[in-house]
Amino acid sequence: MDLKQQLSAVLAQKGKTLESCTDQDLYYALLTVTQKVQTGSGPARTGRKLYYISAEFLIGKLLSNNLLNLGLYDEAKKILAEAGHELTKVEEYEPEPSLGNGGLGRLAACFLDSIASLGLHGDGVGLNYHYGLFRQVFDHNQQREQPNPWLEDQSWLTDTGVRFKVPFGSQELESVLYDLNIPGYENGVVNKLRLFDVAQPAPAPDQGISFDKGDIAHCLTSFLYPDDSDEAGKLLRVYQQYFMVCSAVQLILREAEEKGWPIKRLNQHAVIQINDTHPSMVIPELIRQLMARKELGLTMDEAIYVASNVCAYTNHTILAEALETWPSSYLEQVAPQLMPIIRELDKRAKERYADPRVAIIDGNDCVHMAHMDIHYGFSVNGVAALHTDILKNTELKHFYDIYPGKFNNKTNGVTFRRWLMACNPALAELITQCIGEGWKRNPEQLEKLLALRKDAQVLDKLLEIKAENKRRLSAYLYQTQNISLDPESIFDIQVKRLHEYKRQQMNALYAIHQYLRIKAGYTPARPITVIFGAKAAPAYIMAKNIIHLILCLQKLVNQDPEVSRWMRIVMVENYNVTLAEELIPAADLSEQISLASKEASGTSNMKFMANGALTIGTLDGANVEIADLVGEDNIYLFGALSDKVIDLYARNGYHPDQFYSASQFIREAVDFITGPEMSAIGDLGCLQALKGDLMGKDYFMALLDVRDYAKVKDQALWDYEDRRDWSAKTLVNIAKSGFFSSDRTIMEYNRDIWHL
Ligand SMILES: *Cc1c(COP(=O)(O)O)cnc(C)c1O
Repeated sequence: MDLKQQLSAVLAQKGKTLESCTDQDLYYALLTVTQKVQTGSGPARTGRKLYYISAEFLIGKLLSNNLLNLGLYDEAKKILAEAGHELTKVEEYEPEPSLGNGGLGRLAACFLDSIASLGLHGDGVGLNYHYGLFRQVFDHNQQREQPNPWLEDQSWLTDTGVRFKVPFGSQELESVLYDLNIPGYENGVVNKLRLFDVAQPAPAPDQGISFDKGDIAHCLTSFLYPDDSDEAGKLLRVYQQYFMVCSAVQLILREAEEKGWPIKRLNQHAVIQINDTHPSMVIPELIRQLMARKELGLTMDEAIYVASNVCAYTNHTILAEALETWPSSYLEQVAPQLMPIIRELDKRAKERYADPRVAIIDGNDCVHMAHMDIHYGFSVNGVAALHTDILKNTELKHFYDIYPGKFNNKTNGVTFRRWLMACNPALAELITQCIGEGWKRNPEQLEKLLALRKDAQVLDKLLEIKAENKRRLSAYLYQTQNISLDPESIFDIQVKRLHEYKRQQMNALYAIHQYLRIKAGYTPARPITVIFGAKAAPAYIMAKNIIHLILCLQKLVNQDPEVSRWMRIVMVENYNVTLAEELIPAADLSEQISLASKEASGTSNMKFMANGALTIGTLDGANVEIADLVGEDNIYLFGALSDKVIDLYARNGYHPDQFYSASQFIREAVDFITGPEMSAIGDLGCLQALKGDLMGKDYFMALLDVRDYAKVKDQALWDYEDRRDWSAKTLVNIAKSGFFSSDRTIMEYNRDIWHL
């Protein structure tokens, strides 16, 4: 049966036809048919198998992506159109799974797509959170959190029937395994994302996202990263982590048995990639379960050998707060059977290396998860060239001195199937017209576009596509969030999690500066729309204060007719993958302004580049590699370099008050935060806390870079007026973006680490 017949058959069971059904009926019918196409797909598998274990998989909606990878997208679109439906409308009925916070989870999702598309055998392993991260709503210019129930009776998940027992100190729970198909791009391969859940999940809380964190049996998988500002929240995270790794190891050993892999040589058949430290307990847990199988007769040495040759670790951050350490009392309480193994691993490491800086358990009896990964994993990788250098030379130097051969770099990437072909079909079509289809399988071929950098017709077409994407975004935001944009203005976009190191506050200071200039009669060449999208962690007060500042500015600026002709500020609500897919194709400027050394890689920088936005950014993370590729004429760089920043931290050499006193620009902008205009709109307590922090601490040095930032941003806005020249710069960015395909990243993981 062809696709049309299959759809008609599914609809007929409900007494409907393609013409008479609703868009919602069509969503479920397409889901059913797509699921069926995928079952049983895939060539015979030999060689090593990868288990990519991660607390997050920010997969986004799946319908379009799956249709695209299965080669059914164009056909589905045509069938729907003939029956009077639109695929984009049908997609609106799909809830977005919210199984991740931001970049780290989205990376895991891009990797699964690339692993399958390269025909490699690898599954993702994680947790099935019911109410996701949280849904963000704005109320009185503040963020409020709501549950985001995304699971429906009919969804992409299937219950496998597989159950495992997870022994906790207090009780034993059952884990339930759900599978979600991950089809490769037009290659017949289907891998899986395997998500564990509790057997009796709790219903959604009535109000907000508070729930009984002590009720492990029902609430363990309720939310992703529950608010860990209190002890119950921290303990719940440890419960989640152990639940995930204990189930994962049982799954892996079960598959090993089914496939007849000899356990003593498990490393020849399986590799576990540990995505950040959340799954680190997989190492001692694997050792524990191997030892518990008495029939194997493994010694401790042998079990450690197996685990150490199966597990590899990816580091995602140098921020101290994100490098997990757990008091051993927590681990003792959650999984008492694991602590003796961790103590043994620590003892052995201490026998070899006396340096306390490389200990697994420190003098306060806290377990450093990353240290365990490095001693007992066979590979340690950073996620961009600069990040890996900082790990080797500064953050993890003592480990690099011991294990130089374990360290390697794998610069992040994104899947061009979702982040160009699916989200920007007009641009994809133009590229294909210019250079043929080859770039779809090999994005490095985008470089062929460079030959067209002086082709006026192509440059004008690029501008037209951008203009159309901006109109489409404006219509979308008007319809979904009642936000009005001027598509003729410059779209300057900063979308990412809210964090002080990402420096949304510096972008806001520029907006204040611009506001004051417009008020003083200095208007820019063209209006600008500053767009933000960001969720703040529920317990991160300063991040919430920054959201408050931006929302108050939005109100002030947009209500002032004198200013709003020239500048508007917009913070979109509930930034997620779906919104990213609308926003990124419409961007003129991509804000990547983290304090140098702090953003390990970034991936939205890559998505923006591939969609023809120019980057304004610091030399941080993968921005460094973007700048190397496009050349300094095609990127707007500013700010202190990472060496200088690292040095300032090392000698406590940064004093924001000095910048405040020395610069009128900074004084005016910072004082404005608590001035009469803002205090008439906002909560003075929040605004004062923010201003006080900027003047007294400013840990991420916004005042150090803000003047340089403003100067370079003014230049970018000026350059925008030479439309053809700007278009040529965007063309160079698109042409050079192929390096940032996650297919390239995965080929490198496979070549250097996995050997699948
Ligand atoms: C790509 C992406 C991110 C990561 O953004 P960065 O700017 O690299 O931090 C976060 N959230 C969503 C929804 C994304 O698609």
